[in-house]
Amino acid sequence: MPKASTSKKGGPAACTGRACDWVNGGKSGQECVDGSGGCTNAHLCEAEESDFHTQELQEATRKINRILSRIASDPNGRTLSFCEVSEGQFLAWVKHGGGPKKGVTRRDSDAKIARALKLTGK
Ligand SMILES: [Zn+2]
Repeated sequence: MPKASTSKKGGPAACTGRACDWVNGGKSGQECVDGSGGCTNAHLCEAEESDFHTQELQEATRKINRILSRIASDPNGRTLSFCEVSEGQFLAWVKHGGGPKKGVTRRDSDAKIARALKLTGK
């Protein structure tokens, strides 16, 4: 059964994680658009200590969040996001609220993504 489109014309106003995705449009830069994941706020979730989230990881999480929170706001109104690529998370300033865009997405080949995002392979 065809599913009705729930996407808004303007795209997400902020990262929603599950309902957004990134697109690199070349000169138009990195954008967050309606999608199915792969783009989240640049923030690590803090949690209680457990066997899979040890004290060391809690501390690392707090330190990384502290570093991220010290980054000055973007004068152009873009927000910091983690954009998922095969090798990990790519930290980028992303634009929100635009319409659907053509460009490189996380579904493209690793080589194409690396070129678009200028990844250094480290
Ligand atoms: Zn997003």
